[in-house]
Amino acid sequence: MTKRSDEWALATKLVREGTMRSQFGETAEAMYLTSGYAYDNAEQAAARMAGDEEGYVYSRYGNPTNQMLAERLTALEGAETCRVTSSGMGAISSAMIAPCSAGDRVVAASALFGSCRHICSTILPRYGVETEFVNGSDLDAWKRALSKPTRLVLIESPSNPLLEAVDIAAVAELAHAAGALLVVDNVFATPVLQKPLELGADIAVYSATKHMDGQGRVLLGAILGKSDFIEEHIDPWLRHTGPAASPFNAWVVLKGLETLDLRVKQACANAAVLADAIAAHPNVRAVHYPGREDHPHHHIHKKQMSSGGTLIAFSVKGARAEAFKVLNSLRLVDISNNLGDTKSLACHPCSTTHRALSEEEQAEMGLDESWIRFSVGLEDVDDLRRDLDGALSAL
Ligand SMILES: *Cc1c(COP(=O)(O)O)cnc(C)c1O
Repeated sequence: MTKRSDEWALATKLVREGTMRSQFGETAEAMYLTSGYAYDNAEQAAARMAGDEEGYVYSRYGNPTNQMLAERLTALEGAETCRVTSSGMGAISSAMIAPCSAGDRVVAASALFGSCRHICSTILPRYGVETEFVNGSDLDAWKRALSKPTRLVLIESPSNPLLEAVDIAAVAELAHAAGALLVVDNVFATPVLQKPLELGADIAVYSATKHMDGQGRVLLGAILGKSDFIEEHIDPWLRHTGPAASPFNAWVVLKGLETLDLRVKQACANAAVLADAIAAHPNVRAVHYPGREDHPHHHIHKKQMSSGGTLIAFSVKGARAEAFKVLNSLRLVDISNNLGDTKSLACHPCSTTHRALSEEEQAEMGLDESWIRFSVGLEDVDDLRRDLDGALSAL
């Protein structure tokens, strides 16, 4: 039996929602490592395959552990339904490709996770889908780009790596007027801080690899939205192309979700303190933290995100050599392109996550060699502050 109540608050849902106990009454969610399912008789097999009887048929189509995770995520997001996938890119590529056909048009914000940008710039055009990039924070640019019929719009807010804001509600209205679906990659904000569907988006996509697992262990993705859209477009795509989530990974993320609210709130509290400390350092040129009033898009972040988030971007005085020197002087924080982990992680976007972009494309985003992206974890905030201060003072 599945536990569920619409009256539960977020913290309760994160611990309880979707739990499906077996006949053994286990307290923790069971991990169903099975690819197939046995039937009582041939008639039942035929009925299940025909869809006349409820039940599992094959783990590429569905699995009880994955189902528990999907239900917990549905409750967390306030969506109608959810499908989980092998990775965040499995979710985003499916959500983008499945509803599109040759001749369709896609508009995306130019500041996107590298692989999302690659899908728009390289993969979709090969299949006859025209794509256009716009500056995500420029509403006039959105109005111009969405003056033509459009199938799909993809945005990320806060964006990677400079944490710029896209006004989700405003872009949703423009997208809908152009006949488009709005897909929001909500990884940086997490559903604890920002709810794209409530702001008017049609689909929210996640890399659960980040804050949802939150402990740097597994890859997993999720697609959330209306049941009719998911059933019409996403289910056939997932079933026949096969980016199914591993039930082991789904189980790890289920356990991760139980502490998501606590972890994200504590990491945000640490990030707020560290953003101020970084901004006050004489070797720092600029800090982008959505929770600080000097962030160029603070007013937009503030109306759609309940706190400043767990990521900070900062520019050191100098260029690549100085940024590398700071990274190499960190003793506690790891150099890693991952994010949303209990361990604080820092990277140099120009030479790693955004390496594939041309210099002009980087400049268009406001990115240059002096920037460092910092994902704040759960270490003691004073230890982190000392580590950052020591690394910045090494310049
Ligand atoms: C990590 C990430 C992805 C991709 O997720 P994977 O789980 O690595 O496939 C997509 N979008 C954003 C914003 C990310 O941070």
